[in-house]
Amino acid sequence: MSQTKVKTLQNYVGGEWIDAKSDETEAVYNPATGEIIAHVPISSQEDVDHAVKIADEAFKDWKEVPVPKRARILFKYQQLLVDHWDELAEIVTIENGKNFKEAQGEVLRGIENVEFASGAPSLMMGEQLPSISNGLDSGVYRYPIGVIGGITPFNFPMMVPAWMFPMAIVTGNTFVLKPSERTPLLANRLAELLEEAGLPKGVFNIVHGAHDVVNGLLDHKNVAAISFVGSQPVAEYVYKRGTENLKRVQALAGAKNHSIVLKDANLDNATTQILNAAFGSAGERCMAASVVAVEDSVADEFIELLTEKVNEVKIGNGLDEGVFLGPVIRDNHKERTLQYIETGEKEGAKLVRDGRNDEDAQREGYFVGPTIFDNVTTEMKIWQDEIFAPVLSIARVKDLDDAVELTNTSRFANGACLFTNDGGSVRQFRETIDAGMLGVNIGVPAPMAFFPFSGWKDSFYGDLHANGKDGLEFYTRKKVLTTRWV
Ligand code: NAD
Repeated sequence: MSQTKVKTLQNYVGGEWIDAKSDETEAVYNPATGEIIAHVPISSQEDVDHAVKIADEAFKDWKEVPVPKRARILFKYQQLLVDHWDELAEIVTIENGKNFKEAQGEVLRGIENVEFASGAPSLMMGEQLPSISNGLDSGVYRYPIGVIGGITPFNFPMMVPAWMFPMAIVTGNTFVLKPSERTPLLANRLAELLEEAGLPKGVFNIVHGAHDVVNGLLDHKNVAAISFVGSQPVAEYVYKRGTENLKRVQALAGAKNHSIVLKDANLDNATTQILNAAFGSAGERCMAASVVAVEDSVADEFIELLTEKVNEVKIGNGLDEGVFLGPVIRDNHKERTLQYIETGEKEGAKLVRDGRNDEDAQREGYFVGPTIFDNVTTEMKIWQDEIFAPVLSIARVKDLDDAVELTNTSRFANGACLFTNDGGSVRQFRETIDAGMLGVNIGVPAPMAFFPFSGWKDSFYGDLHANGKDGLEFYTRKKVLTTRWV
């Protein structure tokens, strides 16, 4: 595709598609081909100011719209998302690289968030306590907080924005989304469908760009709260700067998720689950399995079975039938991943499967074949850092105590999984592991929309997580009314 035919995306503000005031743009690539598919504006502070002004004005009317009426718009939106499911999934595959089935799954996770938020009339109910004293009654009423800024990562262009804006707007707030500049296309389609669902102008807005837009939102006095999802250093920065500006901030960060395989586990299930968890979406999931601690006595068998299955994986363009492993997001991310593989070798880990050699990984686009290291230890960078690519580290452990101790030394604590047939081990795991989202005999324990996405330690900064009742609490504030009528 020649560059002249490639369109430059527009921002969406006050129900209008408008050019960013800044002239700066960045190329958006299809990572499976290396082709430029769009240009994204790198908007300026002025663009943010305009969007926040419009969102702030829209808030005045939107917060007065009865909750059932707001929910009805989301019902319509849910139907539109279902009607456009495959079209949305195709956009996800083209801009992100994950295979079409995974993209369809991601769209479903987004739809589930809309469905959960559509229950706003029940969710928004307060609580009453009559007769707190003679003739005195008290009750809690719930209200929106204002303009919300949402900042999202490249790896889930549908699901992560949907963790934020459906609940934020149905509770009466207005929203300014800053999508990842690496996967900005889907957000625009989500806005078009919101408009079709009947959302009033100015309630949902998009300002494309990078750190200037983020800083603009973090510093703007009329932004009440920031929902951020992205890498650890940026999450920490966003949390510090946002809270210093006295905003509510929830900042979901990076991860290094551990799976533990005990000798009594069903190894067939464990290897299938871990294959999906480690190499699905090219390892670019905040819930990806990146370390497996395997009980020594079954480690050889586990690795043999896993490698056998991994060797069957089809690498290629995620739109092609049967492809499991797509590309990583950019050429520099591929480069960084190859450097980690070299580092792992230098650090003395045993390279059991070298994804650099896969024939299909040599094609155009940013491909790295599934890579497995054995004998990984906690001093190694490949154990410590989030690589965010199809690279799996295996550590051999004596027993569950040993595995839990190893897992708990990580600074990250998003997810952890245990593979076993023993209830006592499950209980010990649940009680002793430091991680916020646990799985037993499953590989990716990502909670559904009605539960909190509950990372711990350096995987999360804030108090109220995304989703579930935490999401509702984050986007609302309460009045407590005490009345005397006698
Ligand atoms: P990223 O941190 O590079 O970008 C996230 C957002 O922050 C983007 O919108 C980007 O434009 C903005 N940004 C980047 N650098 C910035 C800077 N210096 N100042 C201000 N803003 C900046 O993350 P990514 O690479 O797009 O996404 C992958 C990361 O997100 C991984 O670390 C992954 O674990 C994490 N993630 C976490 C969760 C979770 O629930 N904890 C979910 C999805 C992704």
